[in-house]
Amino acid sequence: MNRKLVVVAGGGGFIGGHLVARLLEEGNTVRSVDIKPTDEWDQVHDSAQNLCQDLRLADACHDAVRDASQVYNLAADMGGMGFIESNKALCMLSVLINTHMLQASVTAGVERFFFSSSACVYAQNKQLAAAAQPLSESDAYPATPEDGYGWEKLFSERMCRHFREDFGLHTRVARYHNIYGPSGTWTGGREKAPAAICRKIAEAKVSGDHEIEVWGDGEQARSFTFIDDCVYGTQAILGSEIEEPINLGSSELVTINQLVDIVEEIAGITVARNYNLSAPQGVRGRNSDNSMIEERLGWTPSISLHEGLEATYRWIYDEAAALAGVR
Ligand code: NAD
Repeated sequence: MNRKLVVVAGGGGFIGGHLVARLLEEGNTVRSVDIKPTDEWDQVHDSAQNLCQDLRLADACHDAVRDASQVYNLAADMGGMGFIESNKALCMLSVLINTHMLQASVTAGVERFFFSSSACVYAQNKQLAAAAQPLSESDAYPATPEDGYGWEKLFSERMCRHFREDFGLHTRVARYHNIYGPSGTWTGGREKAPAAICRKIAEAKVSGDHEIEVWGDGEQARSFTFIDDCVYGTQAILGSEIEEPINLGSSELVTINQLVDIVEEIAGITVARNYNLSAPQGVRGRNSDNSMIEERLGWTPSISLHEGLEATYRWIYDEAAALAGVR
């Protein structure tokens, strides 16, 4: 039995693709599993074992984690606000993935299990102002999370805790805050704000039509976490003794308008902004309180939004230009 096998569920997705790359660089044996056929994966790493499986099914989970020592569960049916606000049942069905992955991991004797939770678990009444207090881990309760997606994450967090307490599986849970970067979803309706804004400005640059739609009034605020910080933090949390859910997010708060300002500067154009006030916007303001991660890991995400957006914009510009047949 190969006890060094690391399984990444959702390896065909954005964060999973980057995590698999890092694990392979470190010399691990990696099995990457996703429901999408491999030709639709964000990244395919040939030196990993790449499987196409529906992890809502218990049998598929048993096959996926066989002989694994570590499991990262990043698989979920999800997307940005445009997707999660109108697909609540689909979001909640991801509970099947984590449930069956936990059960299969207990059976297989997995040593460590990571679950990717979300800042969407936080109580909505604590996120009413753009300049809202940064959210610390205890702010998830009393629970009023994002309907659908956030409830599934909160329930699955608790399932991880009880599998640890009752069955001795070493579970670790990170609450991701808006992860962005190259090689992720940038078009099609599931993309999140940084990729959507980069795409709109890249398309404006390619087409010469310097006008974009912004969802809401652009004054809603968020912090955005670059993928390299996310991958580092994910591995650090898996290897740590932190048993309770912990924030993994940048604390650099910006409004969507400020996000547009930064991408305009990187692209070297300015755009007219048409505000769509009936588009999905999520909570008014959300930021990550990083006291716990700083104390427990002696580290916090530190890659600046400007630096991360430069890499992201360049990648999305190239994709958009290639699609438009421009170079
Ligand atoms: P993603 O959509 O790019 O990746 C998720 C992957 O899971 C996809 O490739 C998808 O095909 C796969 N998947 C969905 N259903 C499946 C199933 N039944 N069986 C197997 N695979 C299935 O998303 P991501 O941004 O890489 O997010 C990874 C994880 O992190 C998710 O659990 C997500 O909820 C969580 N998260 C992400 C963010 C973020 O900003 N990206 C924020 C909070 C939490």
